[in-house]
Amino acid sequence: MGNIERAKELYIDLKKRLEANKDKVYELVDDPFVSKYLELIDEKENLSLKLKIAKYQNELESSRYYEKLLSENGIMMSELRKKAKVSKYIKLMKEQEVLDYKFKKAKFDYEKNIYLNCDHLFVRYGNGDNNKPVCHCLKCGFDTKLKSSDRFVMDSDDYQRYRIMKDNNLRGMIIGGYTNLELAKKIYQGIIKKHPDISNEIATKYFMVAKYFILKKGKENYNKHAKHLGLKK
Ligand SMILES: [Zn+2]
Repeated sequence: MGNIERAKELYIDLKKRLEANKDKVYELVDDPFVSKYLELIDEKENLSLKLKIAKYQNELESSRYYEKLLSENGIMMSELRKKAKVSKYIKLMKEQEVLDYKFKKAKFDYEKNIYLNCDHLFVRYGNGDNNKPVCHCLKCGFDTKLKSSDRFVMDSDDYQRYRIMKDNNLRGMIIGGYTNLELAKKIYQGIIKKHPDISNEIATKYFMVAKYFILKKGKENYNKHAKHLGLKK
């Protein structure tokens, strides 16, 4: 089994386990003890915040009041933790955290394998942050647009792509000029539908001709030429 298949299997297995775990959690939230426990978690957060504000404003009486409520909240929570369903809920939530972490890592490995093994066919579709050209691979979907250019606030998908771009030389070619991304995807889908094993070089030629006729000559001519090129029946 190759790297991609192995990574895919692990990714799919973890996805299933994560979903099964979530289903079990959902079944439990209707339980009266569990839903009370969840209410108490919210209440604890609220009270902690109010206590912080009261302390900051030197309001002694309020501080004492919130401290008292918080300690009552704590006692009720520890009583509820003794209930079977609540303790099961807590255990499942801990498992979920671990599974979620493993799932994200497996997703990263799987997608990284795909991106590094693709002979990319990129189109440029506009300017992203800092006026950098944004490229999108029509074959695997790898996209160089990042939601933020600040790596410390990137979400995990953006960070993954940032790392892949930074650490690797991506194979493939870029189709010249800028294209509307949705139009580019449609043209490419038309090409591979007719020619599934087409090379990047030939696909680029078909692409340029189709784009030319769509943009310059209007739909009527495109249909005629698309038929000629085998993009349309
Ligand atoms: Zn690609």
